[in-house]
Formats: sequence, C-alpha cells, structure tokens
Amino acid sequence: VIAMKDVHLTLGEGASSVDVLKGVSLEVVRGEATGIVGPSGSGKSTLLMVLAGLEKVDAGEVWIAGKRIDGKSEDEVAAFRGRNIGIVFQSFHLIPNMTALENVAVPLELAGHPDPFGVAARELEAVGLSQRVTHYPGELSGGEQQRVAIARALAPEPAILIADEPTGNLDQATGRQIADLLFAKAQERGMTLVLVTHDPALAARCARQIAMRSGRIETAPVQAAVRA
Ligand code: ATP
Ligand code: MG
Repeated sequence: VIAMKDVHLTLGEGASSVDVLKGVSLEVVRGEATGIVGPSGSGKSTLLMVLAGLEKVDAGEVWIAGKRIDGKSEDEVAAFRGRNIGIVFQSFHLIPNMTALENVAVPLELAGHPDPFGVAARELEAVGLSQRVTHYPGELSGGEQQRVAIARALAPEPAILIADEPTGNLDQATGRQIADLLFAKAQERGMTLVLVTHDPALAARCARQIAMRSGRIETAPVQAAVRA
C-alpha cells in the first residue's frame, strides 16, 4: 500500500514560488490501478515525484510498502526505490548516448541482473520495438521513446509502477496496445499501477480515479488509514 497524509509542498523561490501540493492525502491499494486526472498545472507530476521519493515534502507523511520515506536520506530512498518502484517520466529521461537496448539493459546490469540484455530485448519486443533496439533516442519518434521508457521501467519487475502520461505521445491504437500491456503485466505480476493520464479511456480502466485541482484532491479521498 502507498499512502500520503496531508502532504504540503512549495516549489520555487520568491516570486516564482508555487504551493504545488496543499494538503494531499491518498491511499493506493496494493495490486490496484489508480488513475490520476486533472488540469495541466494541478500538481499531478509533482504528486508522482513525491510518491517516487524524488521530491521531498515540506510537511506530511509519505508511506510506501509499510515504510515511511519522507525525511529519509536520499541514499536510503534511492535504495528503496530501486527495488520497489519503476517510473515512466513525462519527458522520458532516456540516456541520449545509449541505444534503446542499452537504455533498458544498463540499469539492470548495474543492479547485478544475470541477463540484462536478454531481458531488455524481450521487454522492447513486448512494446513493439524489436526493430529499433540499436537506435539512439534522438533517432526515435516521441512515441517510440515513450515505449523504450516503459520497457525500461518494467524490466526490473517493480512491485509498483508510477507512470506520467504513459500513452500521452502515442496514437490511439498504439496507446491502447501499451495500456493493454501495462494492465496485463500488472495482473500477471500483481503490480500496483499509479498513472497520470489525460486520456479518459485509460483513466476509466483504472480501478480507482483521483482528480486533482490546484494542488488538492477533488474527489473525496478514501480514508487515509496509514499503516506501518
Ligand atoms: P501537466 O498536466 O501539464 O503535466 P501537472 O499537473 O503535472 O501538469 P506539475 O508539473 O505537477 O503539474 O506542476 C504543478 C504546478 O507547480 C505548476 O503550476 C508548475 O508551474 C509548478 N511548479 C512545478 N515545478 C516547479 C518549480 N521547480 N518551481 C516553481 N514552480 C513549479
Ligand atoms: Mg505533468
């Protein structure tokens, strides 16, 4: 289970500072898919960064798999994330001087995986990119880069997948295929999905929807029963 309890976060300095999260509480049930929707600028990406332990909060609690991660050191959070959480960023964050295959395989290799390139090839095939393994990110379309990012996030078989607009750059048919893949993997592996999406069809496929508006959750949050 993932839980946030009355989380506040202000980003930026002085005149450009923004209260991005204004007391957000939520609970995500293990093995369930949660879709986060809301207008641009409402704080969705920031919320995901907090859940991933990549953004520190000013106040409130963040719990992942029974562990409280707010206030922990960066190293501690990074070690925890590595084992538990896969992330697909809104802007992909692929490494430009590595091929698609290397982008997926190298993180596995660094983590001591026994067969990083074999797994990477299979994950890229699963997202329909077996013809693009030797391409560099700059040689791939936006949708292809997005699929590499998804393959990279799924390859370590994380317990939780956090994805920011995973189908945002894909045409409808490809988006549908990628959504099918994400939900199939989630079911197969008992993976918890937390997705930000502007696509009503994708949100509707999630067991639960959370709507954000200017830094707050609009729909009544499920009782944020934080468990240790
Ligand atoms: P989109 O749908 O466009 O991706 P979003 O809901 O993901 O939007 P966020 O990226 O979480 O929105 O940003 C929420 C608000 O916080 C925005 O108004 C943004 O300008 C502001 N913000 C984000 N990062 C910073 C920062 N480092 N400094 C100041 N303001 C920031
Ligand atoms: Mg965003």
